[in-house]
Formats: sequence, C-alpha cells, structure tokens
Amino acid sequence: MSTPKVEEKLYQNRYIVDESHPHIAIKDKATCTTCDHKACTWCCPAACYTADAAGTVTLATDGCLECGTCRVVCQDKQNIAWDYPRGGYGISYKFG
Ligand code: SF4
Ligand code: SF4
Repeated sequence: MSTPKVEEKLYQNRYIVDESHPHIAIKDKATCTTCDHKACTWCCPAACYTADAAGTVTLATDGCLECGTCRVVCQDKQNIAWDYPRGGYGISYKFG
C-alpha cells in the first residue's frame, strides 16, 4: 500500500474562504523585504506565503490550516496580525 503524499491529504480538507475578511495579514510589507529568514515562506505547511526575487512576500490565506506556525516564526519581527476566521468560515478537516 502506498503512503499518501502531504498534498493528497491536504486535498481532503475543505475550506470556506471569507473573501472580505482575511483572518491573517502581514502588517508591514517593507519589514518582510528586509527580513533575513523569511521563515513564513518555508514553515507554512499550506504554502500560504511566497517571496519573489525582490524579497516581497505575498500571503494568500485560502488554504490556511489555522495551525499558528507563521505567527510563531515571525515572533522576532512581530509582523503578522493573526486571528481565527470568523464563525462559519475556515477549514474543515479531512473529508473522504
Ligand atoms: S517571517 Fe514575518 S517579517 Fe519575515 S517575511 Fe515572514 S511575515 Fe515578513
Ligand atoms: S496559520 Fe499555519 S497554515 Fe495558516 S498561514 Fe499560518 S502557517 Fe500557514
């Protein structure tokens, strides 16, 4: 029996995205540009953060697992405003 990949497991989750109220936000994009570790871009299990060649970090919360990792790894910069989604929105784990 083959072992499922992480991507396959994530695909079993379901999300209701709150388009008008992202529950996580980058406070100051300029701080990200100078951030030496950009840990959010390699610690997020859902790859919500990406950095381009110029060091600009972009956040898309659509597939967020609400794990809180990004908030922890950005503690030194305090540059992430983090909250849970509003009631009725966010992730439902493991369908199928
Ligand atoms: S860890 Fe924080 S400051 Fe660094 S790139 Fe990510 S959000 Fe920006
Ligand atoms: S809470 Fe977890 S899944 Fe959501 S953006 Fe942060 S690190 Fe990624």
